[in-house]
Amino acid sequence: MSDDTKPIPPGSTIGILGGGQLGRMFSAVALRMGYKTVIYSDVDNAPAFETASESIVADYKDEDKLKDFAEKCDVITLEFENIPIETLEFLSEADVLVRPNADVLRIAQYRVEEKKFFDANKIPTAEWQHVRNIDELAEISKLNGILKLARNGYDGKGQFTVSPDNPLPDFQEDAIFEERINFEQEISVIIARTASGSLHYYEPIHNIHKFHILHSSTPAQINQTASDRAIEIAKKVAVSLNLIGMVAVEMFLCENDEIYVNEIAPRPHNSGHWTMDGANICQFELLLRTICNLPIPKLYITQRVTMINLLGDDVHKWGHYLDQEDEKIYIYGKTEIRANRKMGHANIITPLPPKS
Ligand code: ATP
Ligand code: MG
Repeated sequence: MSDDTKPIPPGSTIGILGGGQLGRMFSAVALRMGYKTVIYSDVDNAPAFETASESIVADYKDEDKLKDFAEKCDVITLEFENIPIETLEFLSEADVLVRPNADVLRIAQYRVEEKKFFDANKIPTAEWQHVRNIDELAEISKLNGILKLARNGYDGKGQFTVSPDNPLPDFQEDAIFEERINFEQEISVIIARTASGSLHYYEPIHNIHKFHILHSSTPAQINQTASDRAIEIAKKVAVSLNLIGMVAVEMFLCENDEIYVNEIAPRPHNSGHWTMDGANICQFELLLRTICNLPIPKLYITQRVTMINLLGDDVHKWGHYLDQEDEKIYIYGKTEIRANRKMGHANIITPLPPKS
């Protein structure tokens, strides 16, 4: 067995780049399983600090701090896509496993590379073009679609509807213009790939967005053909990335079970929070088992769960969920409430009927 596939046992230390809610929940699971965690974030008071064994607040390019971080950790992962590529490259030179690696991030954090990756690997995606300013956009003949800035997008930020009836957005940076897909459902598949190449995934998840922000997620009730196709695509993404870690593949499911990939995120994903109450192994534990080379049994749904995001002031509704028998809340400990900011989520549980 090569070193890269040797189990990293409880008692070891996992480093996490990024300090948001995904790091917070990952770290809580890691602590439950006897691991220590070190969060590295460039912001003070990050939500993940509260569940971590140790935190480092420093610039992502601070080489001394990164060296310290690498020395403390047996394996490093990330919970946030916009970590500079140089940071991952620097850490990879140190004597520590970095999962996922810099090449994966290079694709996921830049929409132009991401679309090229889909095209090169024959992964179906909306037609697109690379544009750098309003003049290049104006030259496109079929101006009906969505302009997405190529970097730093999340929750629909940096996106503009383009149609002949609207004035064109003025911009001066890398962007993609893509056709609007007339989908029946938005779905995602969360899949992990280990160092030895085995693949582990949940069934497709149905996601409902409101105003471009994820509102709710639950295991999708779609036909077998659509489900198989979505899983095949997710496998292709993970294998083509040569991934060690986890990737969430966001897709549009259209008429005739046609599927287009929207985008990928090489980390745990908001659409996977239902697994915390609805699967035998939750997505955070799946990531931990993956990067630590631990056994991964078959994943299955234990009870039907619908996850609802608590955005902005919704977080004040926590009492409403606690009044119900089968509802659970997760609050991320963010001190500042902003409109549409992800403050927490609720998992609404409906027990599955007994097996006959
Ligand atoms: P997030 O971080 O929440 O995943 P994001 O800012 O990275 O979002 P996208 O996932 O690209 O952005 O888009 C957000 C939402 O906008 C999608 O989930 C979908 O509802 C809608 N959308 C994006 N692209 C298209 C498209 N080509 N056709 C139709 N709807 C789209
Ligand atoms: Mg998205």
